Amino acid sequence: MKKTAPAKKAAAEKSAGKTAPAKKAASKKTVPAKKAAKKAAPAKTAGKAAKKAAPAKTAGKVAVKPPAQESPAALVRRARRINRELAEVYPYAHPELDFENPFELLVATVLSAQTTDLRVNQTTPALFAKYPTPEDLAAADPEEVEEILRPCGFFRAKTKSVMGLSKALAEDFGGEVPGKLEDLVKLPGVGRKTAFVVLGNAFGRPGITVDTHFQRLVRRWQWTDETDPDKIEAAVGALFPKTEWTDLSHHVVWHGRRICHARKPACGACPIAPLCPAYGEGETDPEKAKKLLKYEKGGFPGQRLKPPQAYLDAGGKPAPPLGAA
Ligand code: SF4
Repeated sequence: MKKTAPAKKAAAEKSAGKTAPAKKAASKKTVPAKKAAKKAAPAKTAGKAAKKAAPAKTAGKVAVKPPAQESPAALVRRARRINRELAEVYPYAHPELDFENPFELLVATVLSAQTTDLRVNQTTPALFAKYPTPEDLAAADPEEVEEILRPCGFFRAKTKSVMGLSKALAEDFGGEVPGKLEDLVKLPGVGRKTAFVVLGNAFGRPGITVDTHFQRLVRRWQWTDETDPDKIEAAVGALFPKTEWTDLSHHVVWHGRRICHARKPACGACPIAPLCPAYGEGETDPEKAKKLLKYEKGGFPGQRLKPPQAYLDAGGKPAPPLGAA
């Protein structure tokens, strides 16, 4: 595979024991929109990759639907190439909620609605210290739980949700989180997105997590024009082998949180700019774009209070506890 210059640099730094920060990994030159669009048309550079990227084999029942002037096979190649590049930019990508077991991940994921993972991570240590099991949380005094969950916002509704699902776990599943999609979505307050987060990260079962970042980025990349999360999940799932779904979800969400923001994407510091049809939607000046980078890419702490070692080894910093300056 012919790599883009930023990817090469990132790979070189990785092999030297360092993780390339986005500002280094990003191309120093801005990529003119026309050039980016030209590079993003993979049909001309397909080469050997064409044989590997057969959409129908992994597509299941969903047809791959490329943008105009891009064949289904070319769309699959471009999508997979973006994922490979992102894997080099975020080799330490992981779920950004702190958890020790499936129950903690399930509760934390429910709490993360309408707030940041950081705020959830700052809140859950007190919750799980007091109520470590579904039985404990199901039997709690709701007012005490509300007080603990107050920093997460919507704390009354969230208290109801996590106590309701704890009760269902205690009564219907012997106090264990089930490892099947059909069981998880029966729990109160648990939809497909939450279920896939739990399946992918606590049970090692592949799943695509279509959150707000995922929806925005796959549309910018023209992987699909669907707007319904279930249809996006199916359309994107058709572009990748199932084994890659969980890591793909992390890569996309991490890119959305660090570089490809909703309002001001940092296009001038984006390592996948040559593959992106939306290049130019955000800041293209490299110096100005660098200032938009977030978390470890901007030299700031991450969202987890207890991040994986790989993140720390790459220079990432843990998030501060609640109330810390
Ligand atoms: S930051 Fe810009 S170039 Fe990068 S993926 Fe987002 S829209 Fe495309």
